[in-house]
Amino acid sequence: MTTQVTRSTFDQVMVPNYNPQAMVPVRGHGTRVWDQQGNEYIDFSGGIAVNALGHTHPELVKVLKDQAEQLWHLSNVFTNEPALNLAQQLTDATFADKVYFCNSGAEANEAAFKLVRKYGHDHFGPQKHQIIAFDQAFHGRTLFTVSVGGQAKYCQGFEPIPAGIEHVPFNDLDALKAVISDNTCAVVMEPIQGEGGIIPATPEFAKGVRELCDQHQALLVFDEIQTGVGRTGELYAYMGMGVVPDVLTTAKALGCGFPVGAMLTTDKVAASFSFGTHGSTYGGNPLACAVAGKALEIIKDPKLLAGVVAKQQVFIAGLKKINSKHAIFKEIRGQGLLIGAELIEPWHGKAALFLAAAREEGLMILVAGPNVLRFAPSLIIEDDEIESGLQRLEKAIANRIAKGIDS
Ligand code: PLP
Repeated sequence: MTTQVTRSTFDQVMVPNYNPQAMVPVRGHGTRVWDQQGNEYIDFSGGIAVNALGHTHPELVKVLKDQAEQLWHLSNVFTNEPALNLAQQLTDATFADKVYFCNSGAEANEAAFKLVRKYGHDHFGPQKHQIIAFDQAFHGRTLFTVSVGGQAKYCQGFEPIPAGIEHVPFNDLDALKAVISDNTCAVVMEPIQGEGGIIPATPEFAKGVRELCDQHQALLVFDEIQTGVGRTGELYAYMGMGVVPDVLTTAKALGCGFPVGAMLTTDKVAASFSFGTHGSTYGGNPLACAVAGKALEIIKDPKLLAGVVAKQQVFIAGLKKINSKHAIFKEIRGQGLLIGAELIEPWHGKAALFLAAAREEGLMILVAGPNVLRFAPSLIIEDDEIESGLQRLEKAIANRIAKGIDS
């Protein structure tokens, strides 16, 4: 029996590790979403950089329905065509020779961090196990991934955490130089720190990290879970940086809303995951891989990727216009359709207030930490949808400012 559920049901029956907005979305199409009361929203949040083709894209709906009539699940005791096709596409399109499938970003990173440790052990011995990552980085919520992530608050209360992980400031090559050694098995970075506040790696920094890894025979892991699959206007952000990683993790937009993650790497590194070393019951699931295969086919089109860069201009111009009236942003930054607007200092710590104000105006946005509003809409959002959403944003900002910082 199904009973009528509402937002308050969440507080009764869900573990309180989230605090969702005061409405329950029930339907989405393109860049619009509707809630239980029929209120309509423009979606600039894209399911946290997931819905790269908007909601219920007809080609994805079709491929999912077709696959649902064919084959749902097999486990990894058997392979399947959608997984093989997706792996083929990913290796054709990137530096990688091999792919490992899983179901989320954290799982892709978990696999990557285990793989780089194993590779260090296999080729150099157990002393080569140090992983270096960056302050404010975010890599997921399993114990290993919060430990590699650079936000101490996500580890608090879960100690003891895995050992052998060091953090240094992002975009600071000297700090990395001071810590890296021949015992480092890998350096892990996001090309643009997403949850950390939309902070792009400078090109010199990314190149310097690659060189230091090479000097110390350490692997370079790019976490492209947020930046990948067209988000920056490149299929993967590394492609525009002049730096090629040894391991890359991808999830979020890979399935455009159907859960799937992948770790990509070279033949040589992949060999350290021999038969039985790692696995996942659902990894390479036919439904997930069929959707991801179609999504990748659509998104890797150069015309679509060029559109992302063009839409960024429209978006940034609109944000600047809002700022010229309300002087609320200290900096607007990002790449492609991963855009951050840092609030001026008096509003630091208050980003979530704008999220609620936007929702009241029929707009879904995100925050990236306490100081930054984040926008990660569909990569195929129309320009007039951007304009309409920004009009709602401006109203939300005006309302929020009128209420005052302390209310
Ligand atoms: N890595 C990065 C860069 C992310 O942005 C995220 C999620 O926000 C993750 C990893 C974790 O992905 P998931 O939530 O799918 O486990």
